[in-house]
Amino acid sequence: MRISKYLILFLLFISFIVYVFIRVDGGSPSRYRLRTDDIQNEIDDPLGEDVDVDILPSNIHNGYVAKPIISLDSDIDNHLNLFRKNIMELAKLYNSTYITCRPNAKSQVALTFDDGPDETFTPIIMDILDDYGITCTFFFIGENIQRYPDILIRAQKSGHQVANHSLSHKRPTEISKHELIYEFESCNLILEEHSGEGTRFIRAPYGLLTIDQMELIEQSNLLAIGWSIDSMDWYTDKKDEIVESVLNPIHSGAIILMHSAGGNRQATLEALPTIIESLLQEGYTFTTVENLLKD
Ligand SMILES: [Zn+2]
Repeated sequence: MRISKYLILFLLFISFIVYVFIRVDGGSPSRYRLRTDDIQNEIDDPLGEDVDVDILPSNIHNGYVAKPIISLDSDIDNHLNLFRKNIMELAKLYNSTYITCRPNAKSQVALTFDDGPDETFTPIIMDILDDYGITCTFFFIGENIQRYPDILIRAQKSGHQVANHSLSHKRPTEISKHELIYEFESCNLILEEHSGEGTRFIRAPYGLLTIDQMELIEQSNLLAIGWSIDSMDWYTDKKDEIVESVLNPIHSGAIILMHSAGGNRQATLEALPTIIESLLQEGYTFTTVENLLKD
């Protein structure tokens, strides 16, 4: 009797420890832990300067990334502050090669969708864009293009810009600058094979690049496209939070980050029509990144 009582107490204790461990470790959904891991070993402060990243929209310039307006857990908040600071510094150093937005563009914005193509969500996103007669930029992953080349062809035929999101979505911070260029060049070869053309427009997985990598990207005549507005669809699965994350900081010349694959994008699908309709009502027009950056 006595032994079984201690056994029960022991099991309760173990259960409690396991529960606490899961709570602590599982505090952040794994789908976004991936992205923020990158920031830790990154160029924390390449210029050794304090940069004010909370600038006013009236001061929007290349390198600006809006501060997320939804509530975030403190780790993510810290990581994103670092991320924004990092991007502002990269854009300052490589002002014509690292682009987050097009300041002074007249009422034009560019929707961008990363991580496709897939056969589930990317086609539905294209259906929605077709319904409104608007075009966007898809940053496709080379390996996914090989799996779903028809989706690439559809994007191209619909007038969307198809751009390069690397061959296999490796973390830039974990590979050398030469491996990174190989990732982009390989994706371009796949793009050429299936659509007849490669592109200068690249987006680094997780948006992260080092100064060394930027140097080589510039020498390789590639154009690194970031974003000024993050829909946070990689973080939240609440439609309203995605909508507000885009509408609240919207500005002319914005490049808006969303995802068309790489997870359950149901909330992105639900948010997209509201985002499009609201921005149309506010007088914005939608264009591709390539057109947004044209003189
Ligand atoms: Zn990605």
